[in-house]
Amino acid sequence: MAYITINRTHFYHNLNKIALKTGSIDKIAIVLKDNAYGHSIDIIASLASEFGIKHAVTRDLEEAEAIKFHFENVLVLAGESRADPRLSFAINSLAQITQMTKGTQVELKVDTGMHRNGIAIEELEEALDSIKLQGLELIGVMTHFRSADELSSDFFWQKKRFEEVKRVVKERGLKVRFHSHNSAAILRSKQFDEDLVRVGIAAYGYDELDCAFDKTDLRPVLAIHAKKVATKPLRKGERVGYGGGFVAPRDMIVSTYNIGYGDGWIRASDKDAYCTDDGVMTLGRVSMDLMVFEGESPSVCVMANAQRAAKHFGTISYEVVTSLSSDIPKIIID
Ligand SMILES: *Cc1c(COP(=O)(O)O)cnc(C)c1O
Repeated sequence: MAYITINRTHFYHNLNKIALKTGSIDKIAIVLKDNAYGHSIDIIASLASEFGIKHAVTRDLEEAEAIKFHFENVLVLAGESRADPRLSFAINSLAQITQMTKGTQVELKVDTGMHRNGIAIEELEEALDSIKLQGLELIGVMTHFRSADELSSDFFWQKKRFEEVKRVVKERGLKVRFHSHNSAAILRSKQFDEDLVRVGIAAYGYDELDCAFDKTDLRPVLAIHAKKVATKPLRKGERVGYGGGFVAPRDMIVSTYNIGYGDGWIRASDKDAYCTDDGVMTLGRVSMDLMVFEGESPSVCVMANAQRAAKHFGTISYEVVTSLSSDIPKIIID
């Protein structure tokens, strides 16, 4: 199987860049959902905590249980909940409140315009009453932006609506942490005055902001390497792979490498061949466990920049990295 390198120096570089925006590493919650965006939740949780990160966000309780010992608090975005001093649970609807166990720490998610999860602003008072009645411990109030990465007024509109939410919560004398920023929001922000950012993709090295914004120098943490399986000479006119999509334009040497779509690598069409960051072209279709490249080098760095690969495949860096199979072995490098 191929292997993935996780670059600790790059990860820490990115966290430092984010800390410059937040003003403190104490305000960073590292988002670890979906196996830390394909980077390995165990490795990223442990590196983040070595760096001094105290907060994390996971998709569900199972992910949180696996890594909670590294952090002061882990926010669980959805699913099952339980009372645990290290865990807090996002409240995504009014109905959810009445199903939770007394003493559970919760963070109320308010829908300020994304219309995905969270209670409506009009339900805020009712939600706060219900949380109190149920004996839950409210430690946070949060929202999520629908287009922080785009140059539009939506971001400011949602921000304003969240300010109104904060006012209502503070008027009740509730002491909670407020958070709304994801990567795009913190990368574009010039001044940050909330208690926490929930940062995912930026920590992994990608700035997905519209190109109209100033770019932050971030470095990709993950790279995929594949090892050679076999080498063979190819005569001019011979074809490679399923469907024979690649026709050798001249005599050449080609080799197969041990990664394919079964490992989560995107199966691109052979009409638009993917080229590695070192300029090596894929030849023919990607197979389940194999890819073919020109040359005979013992290994190929298939991808060192998910954003570049994503552009080629017509998707986003998030999808390229989260698609990678969790059992690809990982090595930490500096
Ligand atoms: C995934 C997620 C984030 C992190 O988003 P990035 O764009 O990767 O920084 C933040 N908040 C919530 C609620 C999320 O689901």
